[in-house]
Amino acid sequence: MVKNLRSRGIKDERVLKAMSVVPRHLFVEEALAYKAYGDHPLPIAGGQTISQPYIVARMTELLEVTKADKVLEIGTGSGYQTAILAHVAGMIFSIERIEELARLAKARIRQLSLDNVIIRCSDGSVGWPEYAPYQGILAAAAAPQVPQPLIDQLAVGGRLVMPVGTEKNQILVRVCKTEKSTKIEEHGSVIFVKMIGKQAYES
Ligand code: SAH
Repeated sequence: MVKNLRSRGIKDERVLKAMSVVPRHLFVEEALAYKAYGDHPLPIAGGQTISQPYIVARMTELLEVTKADKVLEIGTGSGYQTAILAHVAGMIFSIERIEELARLAKARIRQLSLDNVIIRCSDGSVGWPEYAPYQGILAAAAAPQVPQPLIDQLAVGGRLVMPVGTEKNQILVRVCKTEKSTKIEEHGSVIFVKMIGKQAYES
């Protein structure tokens, strides 16, 4: 899997190391475990999907966080991306709206002894103001535009990476926040589930 990520252009060695140590098969149902190391998304509970390894690596690389940084993640899903973030950043605050997914992800994170992760079940489109500001914010679900609370909770000098668009037409964007402005970059077409919440899609 890591060889494929390198050939597709992932360069950050810390990200590649994290991808090589986190056992992806633990994040999917047992019947799909044999497919866990292929470069494709897979179904998880609640009609959601675990993201494709390349996208997980790419988004983590774009976040450019270090062990000194706090990260907010929206859309815990299986917890796989959360586990990768736990290896490259300092503290991870992750929000999932579906109770069952949050519960399963918590159990996996505990099983892997990743003690720098807190997962909660709520609407992540409004962020998690208690621990803000975050040097990195990563969302794995698409909103019609970047929710303002997330920009507000991003630290100056920080980066936010998420898909923006409709169910069928999404662009991966990176928001870089400076003292004076927020710069938005586009990083190609992607396909994610919709973010459902107060500052995203209604349903
Ligand atoms: N990175 C995850 C993929 C998660 S799929 C993985 O590797 O497994 C996207 C997730 O976002 C879904 O589980 C969905 O329930 C969740 N989601 C959608 N809208 C949300 C919201 N407003 N707040 C929190 N989670 C949300």
